[in-house]
Amino acid sequence: MVAPGKRNLKKKFVRTVKSTKEYRFREKPKGAYCALCNKKLQGVPRGDLRKLSKTEKRPSVLFGGILCSDCRDSCFDDAIMLKTGLIKDSDVSFSKKHYVKEAVAKIQI
Ligand SMILES: [Zn+2]
Repeated sequence: MVAPGKRNLKKKFVRTVKSTKEYRFREKPKGAYCALCNKKLQGVPRGDLRKLSKTEKRPSVLFGGILCSDCRDSCFDDAIMLKTGLIKDSDVSFSKKHYVKEAVAKIQI
């Protein structure tokens, strides 16, 4: 019988000399992906984060671990143009709106 704590783990069958044994193991999670363009994020570790320090878990920049650098730059560009009045609120694309709004609150001009 399987231990109750190991029921939800992935199982793998390994053939030995006498019989086939079942091994249970925890699957390593997939890496982090950009919320806008779905590109794989750099600097974000996979697996167990409990033993890492806070700065090792994600990049310390705003939207680090959420957006890739290209999307972050375009959000900041939109936020600056919105703050200076070059574009209107309706010109920002709907998918970026949440991040641009957050960047506008952080920018001090
Ligand atoms: Zn992106």
